[in-house]
Amino acid sequence: MSITKNIESLRQEIPSGQVTLIAVSKTKSNEDIMEAYEAGQRVFGENMVQELTAKQEELPKDIEWHLIGHLQSNKVKYIAPFIAMIQSVDSLKLLKEINKHAEKNNRVIDCLLQVHIADEEAKFGFDHAELVEALRDESLAELKNIRIRGLMGIATNTDNEKHIKDEFYELKMLFDGVKASFFRKDDSFNTLSMGMSSDYKLAIAAGSNMVRLGSTIFGKRVTKHYKA
Ligand SMILES: *Cc1c(COP(=O)(O)O)cnc(C)c1O
Repeated sequence: MSITKNIESLRQEIPSGQVTLIAVSKTKSNEDIMEAYEAGQRVFGENMVQELTAKQEELPKDIEWHLIGHLQSNKVKYIAPFIAMIQSVDSLKLLKEINKHAEKNNRVIDCLLQVHIADEEAKFGFDHAELVEALRDESLAELKNIRIRGLMGIATNTDNEKHIKDEFYELKMLFDGVKASFFRKDDSFNTLSMGMSSDYKLAIAAGSNMVRLGSTIFGKRVTKHYKA
């Protein structure tokens, strides 16, 4: 199937207006991205800062770029001028750094707080206690140049559907709880990013309203790294 066909069939399948589709283009060429763009896709996700900034420079400026991979504080400055959303915020320190660079650029940057829901040690993100601690921190109110839009999570990489479902329901409950406790009067806290190619159907059933799809759109990733 072509990239165009894949996007068209995903549009049929995913309730639009309810679930935002992020096309995860990491390792993929500008040519592949342009095929998705020509098919109407405007929101793309990348996980490496260097690859993201190279693509942003070369590709159409109405693309909305989301960072979905771990972000080091010293790299925030490279993406702050243009990034639409940083989905992988995993510390208060990083949030402060994003705020600082957003302010320098006269912008308000949308952020999701990444929550660690998987079994795997290696995945980044807040655990529940850390998340609540960060949300209670008084300094949060002073960060005028970031906007916390919701939560993001990555499920365990397993064939066990029940296990994946449990993780997604756990994150949905946490999202509802955080919304009720900390963002009751804030309509912009409305985004729950969960679901990738292997598990997006389960994620949507569990209440996701943003899915991040790479291989379903672009095919398998053969290389690990992008060459400009
Ligand atoms: C790579 C990646 C995806 C997309 O993965 P696919 O399995 O190709 O859909 C989604 N989310 C994150 C955080 C990723 O790093």
